[in-house]
Amino acid sequence: MQKISILGATGSIGKNTIEVLSLHPDLYSVYAITAHSNIELLLRQAKTCSPEYVVISDPQLFSQAKKLFSEHGLKCEVLAGPDALEQVASATEVDVVMAAIVGAAGLLPTLAAVTAGKKVLLANKESLVMSGDLFIQAANQHNAQVLPIDSEHNAIFQCLPSDFKYGDLPASGISKILLTGSGGPFLSSTLSELHQVTPQQACAHPNWDMGRKISIDSATMMNKGLEFIEAKWLFGLNTSDIQVVLHPQSIIHSMVQYRDGSVLAQMGNPDMRTPIAHALAFPKRLESGVAPLDFKQLANFTFSEPEPQRYPNLYLAIQASDAGQYATTTLNAANEVAVEAFLQGHIGFTQIAEVNQECLQQTSSHTLVSVEEVLQSDQSARKLASHIIAELNLNAMKKVGS
Ligand code: NAD
Ligand code: MG
Repeated sequence: MQKISILGATGSIGKNTIEVLSLHPDLYSVYAITAHSNIELLLRQAKTCSPEYVVISDPQLFSQAKKLFSEHGLKCEVLAGPDALEQVASATEVDVVMAAIVGAAGLLPTLAAVTAGKKVLLANKESLVMSGDLFIQAANQHNAQVLPIDSEHNAIFQCLPSDFKYGDLPASGISKILLTGSGGPFLSSTLSELHQVTPQQACAHPNWDMGRKISIDSATMMNKGLEFIEAKWLFGLNTSDIQVVLHPQSIIHSMVQYRDGSVLAQMGNPDMRTPIAHALAFPKRLESGVAPLDFKQLANFTFSEPEPQRYPNLYLAIQASDAGQYATTTLNAANEVAVEAFLQGHIGFTQIAEVNQECLQQTSSHTLVSVEEVLQSDQSARKLASHIIAELNLNAMKKVGS
């Protein structure tokens, strides 16, 4: 029986994780589930998976949460605040940690799990984007096993040889990593239509049901950019080792091309329960609840290259990954601020990339050698992005007034 902590249990990945676990009560017990503010859902989840701890990361909700859980007669201990996230991610009793908090908020608890040498199921790609070098060093130093949940990285992992050497594609006979992406909901919109896109349209992904932030990132393809950076750190790759391929059907989840011309692809219905079950059980296989592929229903597979004018964020992320850790941290923070501003109706869809680009341009190169420095860079980039957004709005108001 393995004990698992689910960070970000109330999110899309968290809910899928609980579904997979519910099929295997003989194999896993839940140590902790965490949420930022959705106490009601956390309560319902606690009733079904009986954790020992629940964590509400917004400390202001602590007494409300404690009251609600005791009114419902739940025996689990209620904790609150960011330190409690790190506590349940690193507790001695815990074997496996699902790192599924969204955004930079996931960095410290995910690093705590890695530093405690846990088996870490990594959905929070932002922690690698922000601190890849420190993260991989910590994983090696503390013997943490990091298994990718992102469907593309999970697919690549499945297509690599079992004796794959980190950072050495030629030694494994590999010529290219083919990172697939659907292109999101605006693959065939005209470029001028992109200016009018609403948050609701951008959140409606054609194949995947995900949280709002990653849905917007999928529409701008910043998600693929973050995944590009994630893949570099996870497998030790260079920019030239990776090719992004558009595959709108989302049945192939990524591929590995070998020197002899063979291409190995991992396929399946677009459902995150597959990579979750894979990573949970690795190296074994578990039932996930996902329907098998029906090849009679698969009309055709198409592949193309992402256009730079349609997806400027993808190319900004690739440039940032070449510029270094400061640039990927800056880009990630700017993008979080810009996406939130778009969701709030403060900026337009195409302005997300403008804010990101401006923020990168205004940030000079610097080295990041500690988590504290990463967090400082993250905070400065957030301030700068907010300032850039305020200026954009001011200019827009001036235009209307003149
Ligand atoms: P979501 O928005 O649905 O859920 C986010 C979770 O994080 C929630 O439980 C929320 O309570 C928690 N959270 C939010 N802000 C927090 C904060 N400040 N402090 C602590 N907890 C906080 O997100 P999601 O779609 O489940 O994505 C989670 C992570 O997994 C992201 O990093 C995303 O990029 C990655 N991912 C998601 C998918 C997917 O299909 N949803 C696929 C691949 C990778
Ligand atoms: Mg993905």
